[in-house]
Amino acid sequence: MTRDYNALTLVLVPLGALLATALLLQAAVSLFYTPDSVPGFVMALVYALPLTVAIWWTLRRFGIRLYPDFSLPPPKVFWGIVVLYIPLMWIVEIISSFLPPTGKSLEAVLNFITDHPGWSFLTIVILAPLLEELLFRRIILHFLLKKYPPARAVVISALAFAFFHFNIWQGIGALILGLYLGYVYWRTRSYWMTVFLHFITNATGFWSIYIHQSLDSTASQVPWEARLAALTLSAALFYWGIRRLDRLMARLPRTYYLASGNPHKIRELKALIPEGYRIRPMTDLGFEGPLPETGRTLEENSRQKALYLARLYGVDTLADDTGLETEALDGKPGVHTARFAGPDADDAKNRALLLEKLKEVDNRRARFRTVITLSEGHRVYQFEGKAEGHIARVPAGEGGFGYDPLFVPDEGDGRTYAEMTEEEKNRTSHRAKAVRQLVEFLRRRFSA
Ligand code: IMP
Repeated sequence: MTRDYNALTLVLVPLGALLATALLLQAAVSLFYTPDSVPGFVMALVYALPLTVAIWWTLRRFGIRLYPDFSLPPPKVFWGIVVLYIPLMWIVEIISSFLPPTGKSLEAVLNFITDHPGWSFLTIVILAPLLEELLFRRIILHFLLKKYPPARAVVISALAFAFFHFNIWQGIGALILGLYLGYVYWRTRSYWMTVFLHFITNATGFWSIYIHQSLDSTASQVPWEARLAALTLSAALFYWGIRRLDRLMARLPRTYYLASGNPHKIRELKALIPEGYRIRPMTDLGFEGPLPETGRTLEENSRQKALYLARLYGVDTLADDTGLETEALDGKPGVHTARFAGPDADDAKNRALLLEKLKEVDNRRARFRTVITLSEGHRVYQFEGKAEGHIARVPAGEGGFGYDPLFVPDEGDGRTYAEMTEEEKNRTSHRAKAVRQLVEFLRRRFSA
């Protein structure tokens, strides 16, 4: 079961775990080594272990899960993101050059790089991008995006990322880069894309520190008027580029995971969904079920299933719930349609019970109703489809499933759903109508 989180807890829990582990570890290290004699691998451990603990504890604490995803945006977007990163790095470099010299506060980083080039390379250039992107983008931002509007989620994750860097020199750069990395993650949902950007930053930083043996910005030797001019130019270039890139990224396909194990529903949705959207089964997340279905209405059940999966994995989801509502039985079986004749009921038993209950009843009016829920970002949408009709006195037809042999739709020629072909049924069925509403909604938005 997932535990609810908000902007504060989703930031404080990992940062708290990180800080506590780091302090403990540093205390332990100081028992064995003097500051100058700490071996390279221990320094790597002091960096990587707190992050690993923070990641593990956050997943555990909130009951949220990761799923494997190695996707990268298409080449045009990928290189657009990388190229635009260059003026942004200039901006960071120039802003940093106006800060006072780093002095002693970052000496440990400099010593680590000069004394242990191998271990520091592994830590700074390889492990830092992998672990920091996992925590700040793939976990903190990824799940914040299910709760807050994108801009707010990106800013919060960037602030957490900046705070993690503790000092002002790295913090300002981390804030600016964190905003860009967050924005890129929101648009692409690609962990490896942000790892790559982070890798470039740290590799260039590592290289220049290694060469110059200094952490201070070389840009500080340039006259401030020239720096200001370069800053304005970089900002203008970045602004021009990001507007173009954003239009490109807004067209990237969106993926929805279907909160259902029913392959029939997946096929049906895949066939109907417009271009620009991808439907994937929940099993692609590594989730086999079960999904909770304890609501009192179809709306509640449909919402419950969609949100359960959405919260567990932080993804966009679709779920549906269908019920048969008869007038004479006050809307029953309704939300209990699948389990009308008891927990281990099958279609035949359900149909027999319905016929039994309506045996002496003249009013046979009934309707099928489907409610589809879409959980997208921090928003939830519902779509409804109805098929009015009546319950036949005796079953007829071999096709379809469930209550199909008993249901005679008004929009038909007197045959039951089970006597129709799948295509005939889909022309007017409750589910098809709900799906059409969803498709209409998605299509309108994509072309907006
Ligand atoms: P679900 O919400 O799609 O799982 O459907 C709940 C129950 O409604 C199923 O067990 C079926 O018996 C019944 N049902 C759903 N859709 C149809 C349909 O199109 N025809 C007949 N029965 C249906």
